[in-house]
Amino acid sequence: MFANALNDRISRVAAANIGVALAVVSLKYVAYLVSGSVALFSDALESIVNVMTALTAYFAIRMSAKPPDSDHPFGHSKAEFLAAMFEGAMIAVAAVLILIKAYSSLTEGETLEQSFLGLGINSVATIINAGWAWALIKWGTDWRSPALIADGHHLFTDVITSVGVIIGLSLAILTGWSFLDPLIAAIVAVNILGMGYRIATDSMSRLMDQAASPEIEARIRGAIEANGVGAVQAHDIRTRQAGRALFIEFHLVVPGSMTVDEAHAICDRLEDSIEKNIEGSEVVIHVEPEYKAKPEDSGAVPL
Ligand code: ZN
Ligand code: ZN
Repeated sequence: MFANALNDRISRVAAANIGVALAVVSLKYVAYLVSGSVALFSDALESIVNVMTALTAYFAIRMSAKPPDSDHPFGHSKAEFLAAMFEGAMIAVAAVLILIKAYSSLTEGETLEQSFLGLGINSVATIINAGWAWALIKWGTDWRSPALIADGHHLFTDVITSVGVIIGLSLAILTGWSFLDPLIAAIVAVNILGMGYRIATDSMSRLMDQAASPEIEARIRGAIEANGVGAVQAHDIRTRQAGRALFIEFHLVVPGSMTVDEAHAICDRLEDSIEKNIEGSEVVIHVEPEYKAKPEDSGAVPL
């Protein structure tokens, strides 16, 4: 399949993902309205997180695909981190809302109405979620899209939460222990809070120009070693990730008597091989004469 057709498909699934998430949230909210259950309320709010995740993924896929322009010569790949940080903050708000509601329900007591109707509606939403999660993982695997696979796995953890909520609420109804309802809600809220914290801290660290993983660094060094014939050494290798883009720069020491033509040919060869080897990478090389060489224990790559 051509890359563009594939991108179109991924982007269409990302759009459909928003629709499914909205439908599931609506169903779960109706389930809360008819039952008055705080646990079902918490499950509905957790699904709002999915709507935001779906929006973020769609926004990130569209925005990052935008080619560099004069305002943003390095491209737009950081858009997804900003979106993810916003998402993390919204998730925290959802968790706090649930905790407030659970607390007031615990202190004031509550009456569950039409709980079985609420449970039934929530179950339908949960089945839709499970089916969609399965489809996302299958498409993601077929089309090699880590974003879709991650989204599918995330949805599955929600399905597990929903099943827990359904079992817990059924227990509350059967035993008449109404405190179980806000208790389940509080557990869901703490879980959501943890999720928001992970999303926010992860995207923050990436926004601060996080370096490539040690595996990628090793592949870069390998490509330099294999293609640096004619140069003396490479040092000060620095990498920074910006979404799917990876910016790589290093110093290349060549004999001072080498012509610009020859040094440039080595640079082009190195740039080509690294960029081909590591998807999304962009390489910039700074050329230096041999007296600028660094000792090997500084992490320099001898050539
Ligand atoms: Zn240097
Ligand atoms: Zn050039």
